[in-house]
Amino acid sequence: MNRRGFAAGTLIVLALLVGCGNYEPPPVPGTDSTSFGPPLPPDATAIPAGVPTTDAAGPNCDDPTASLRPVPNPEDRVGPTIDAIRARGRLLVGLDTGSNLFSFRDPQTGTIQGFDVDIAREIARDLLGDPNLIEFRMLGSAEREKALQDNTVDIVAKTMTITCARRQKIDFSSVYFEASQRILALDDSGIAGIADLAGRRVCVVNGTTSMQHIQQIQPAADLLTVTNWADCLLALQQGQVDAISTDDSILAGLAVQDPYTRVVGDPISAEPYGIGIAQNKTDLVRSVNATLDRIRADGTWISLYDRWLTVLGPSPGPPAPTYQD
Ligand code: GLU
Repeated sequence: MNRRGFAAGTLIVLALLVGCGNYEPPPVPGTDSTSFGPPLPPDATAIPAGVPTTDAAGPNCDDPTASLRPVPNPEDRVGPTIDAIRARGRLLVGLDTGSNLFSFRDPQTGTIQGFDVDIAREIARDLLGDPNLIEFRMLGSAEREKALQDNTVDIVAKTMTITCARRQKIDFSSVYFEASQRILALDDSGIAGIADLAGRRVCVVNGTTSMQHIQQIQPAADLLTVTNWADCLLALQQGQVDAISTDDSILAGLAVQDPYTRVVGDPISAEPYGIGIAQNKTDLVRSVNATLDRIRADGTWISLYDRWLTVLGPSPGPPAPTYQD
């Protein structure tokens, strides 16, 4: 470039810089500096401290995790429920897509993945000969029992705790995972356990054991209830709550999504997960239990744990089943 060209170029750059100095960004549509922060999800409900609750455990029953003994052989997988599923050619599985690690939509592939999804795939493999013959139905935590009672799904595979109260409405497989309820808080929150939640705002999902336990164990907490655990993470990030409390397995998935959060405190309850099945479908319960027995014995359970859940620590091994018959 000659000297005159260089000078002209410098002038243009100077003119642009002066222009930039005067530049005012246009207002961002839809924002209002006088508002007090982002809105809550439309279905969020505030439950102030001290509002009485129902009994989390519900009526007492001997051992809610005792299920029906599995069918001994693959050819014994017969019965009206199984025949109907085979005639349809697909297993209808209720779950949600917002539970990182257990059932979530992989943003890269658009497919639904996770530990619960893979357990459902093993059930489909044994029933239909193909782990892909599944149709997913999205369910919020509070919709799980009703979806089974209404027969809109064959099974629920959604971090579902087996309780006496739920056993009055639905049946369960044997236990396939053991979680325990803890707390997720921001690193610098000063929250280290359940005692620190007195007078604080805690997010829980409606219709869960997590909500009932917090109301019973820490009645001095103000609750915000929402529809799924991803909404709780957003509320925590936006400063609308101080903590989230649910199963450590679900909290670990949220913590992976936000490095400024931490799972804290001692376990406050045992949360044995079972596959939910409508009542009077004993053929399906026994078949699902046979699948769970198979994956406990053939190494599949451990490989699924290693695929999804090592953030919880090394594999504890599959939980041992108990049976009532
Ligand atoms: N395990 C708890 C329950 O079954 C919470 C799980 C969830 O909301 O998916 O209520």
